[in-house]
Amino acid sequence: MHTIDIDTVEMTLDVMKYAISRITTSAPDLGQPMRESELHALAGETITPEGIGGEKAFQIFRDILVKATVPIDHPRHLAFVPAAPTRAAILFDLITSASSIHGAYWMEGAGGIYCENRAMDWLISLTGMPEGAFGVFTSGGTAANLSAMVTAREACRKKKNATVEKGMILTSSGAHSSIKAMAKVMDVDVHLVQTEDRMTGIQLQNALQALPSETRKRVFAVVATGGTTNAGIIDDLEGIARICQKEDLWFHVDAAYGGGALVADSVRHLFKGIEAADSVTIDPHKWLFSPYDCGAILYRDPEQAREAHQQEGSYLDIFRDEGAKGFNPSDYQIQLTRRLRGMPLWFSLATHGTDKYKWAVERGITLARESGELIRQESHLELVREPSLSCVLFRRKGWKPEEYTRWTYENHKAGLALVTPTKWSSGAGYETVLRFCFINPDTTQSDVRSILDTLRD
Ligand SMILES: *Cc1c(COP(=O)(O)O)cnc(C)c1O
Repeated sequence: MHTIDIDTVEMTLDVMKYAISRITTSAPDLGQPMRESELHALAGETITPEGIGGEKAFQIFRDILVKATVPIDHPRHLAFVPAAPTRAAILFDLITSASSIHGAYWMEGAGGIYCENRAMDWLISLTGMPEGAFGVFTSGGTAANLSAMVTAREACRKKKNATVEKGMILTSSGAHSSIKAMAKVMDVDVHLVQTEDRMTGIQLQNALQALPSETRKRVFAVVATGGTTNAGIIDDLEGIARICQKEDLWFHVDAAYGGGALVADSVRHLFKGIEAADSVTIDPHKWLFSPYDCGAILYRDPEQAREAHQQEGSYLDIFRDEGAKGFNPSDYQIQLTRRLRGMPLWFSLATHGTDKYKWAVERGITLARESGELIRQESHLELVREPSLSCVLFRRKGWKPEEYTRWTYENHKAGLALVTPTKWSSGAGYETVLRFCFINPDTTQSDVRSILDTLRD
């Protein structure tokens, strides 16, 4: 399997050719999902005792399977949180794989971990967290949030010198779905502070006071959101930080989507208070132009994370030895063996410089604002709220939920765009509305116009 022969070289060239062509295509076809049975009918058996050969397998992927995927970097993919990894980052993702580095321990991964740590220095500097703060790259926001909450619970147990009963986290109704999913993994309860807009310190204080004292004792952390996924709303981080300090609660900021906006001068002030967080989640694979998957968890006091996450095992003792000492990423989050997924971000930052990131993120914010203007000019459309960060919520007057769904499928089928509906609570219950989320700096105003045009009668 490991011998290098002529086939290996040829296949490498084929793969590189494909990579070059894909990397230099700015608007690849918007693929369509197919049923698994349909794909199977087209692809045939691929795993056989003798193997079908790399050439054949690659051909099946290139000619059939990849067409049943939606490229997340298409300039008119404005659904969910799209992505637009830089070419530099994509190239270095290939290098990361080709270099076969184990990213868990300094002893084996030093040079690669060094790259990750420089990218982490930059993330920390964006938050303004104090000297000593540091973090690690994770598989995504969910793993980052989970790593932070496990750390928070351990820190709380240690401080109170007690076996805390079933813990509880407070967060807002706008928090990401993964907060509840993560709480299930940890077997802790989530109490939602009902907020239409941003969660404020006062709302948090009131919610805490309204809890029965026995329940209040179970609360160990507050999760504020630095850019809700649905609407780009940033909680009142300063006010929440103050309450957390007063009530002695762990203050976590989930900025998985919005964290990239810390680099943008036009909105940086909205994040005031993030520097006081005990932990912060940022997903470079969302708004910092890294390929999947790359999340990050930043800690004010990384030592607390190490106490919570460091794994023990006789086969791991060598990594604690003087001769192998260094920063071990596996000590600070839930995963042991890990890919050096921060390396593509490092290479891209080094290549382009941080000013380019500032420009690219501002571009998403500008696109959201400009789209708001275009929507205001159309009598059949209406903004649901002012655009926030790079999210725009708007309605097509008179449309029922089914019409939004039909429109979504039609545009996707036509290869025009992927824009999906969402729900928004405007006091009088949930309403189906449309949503744009801009990430790709190559998206243009005329892309947006061409989508809005399809909303006419
Ligand atoms: C996307 C997102 C998450 C989940 O992150 P993954 O990388 O998908 O695991 C968590 N919180 C927020 C606010 C998000 O936008």
